[in-house]
Amino acid sequence: MSAQCLHEGCGWEADKGDDVAGVDRQCMRHASLNAYHSMFRRSFEDVAIVQQVRQ
Ligand SMILES: [Zn+2]
Repeated sequence: MSAQCLHEGCGWEADKGDDVAGVDRQCMRHASLNAYHSMFRRSFEDVAIVQQVRQ
């Protein structure tokens, strides 16, 4: 997943990773260091495994 700060003009992004809690911790640290930076866009990706079925 990835996360991006939505504070106007900030542009901060967390390091991408599969660990949701780890990305959340980065956001919390960013919010604690920067007043009013309290809203983040979080994006999730998933993986599809496709198996061919023979008929
Ligand atoms: Zn920010």
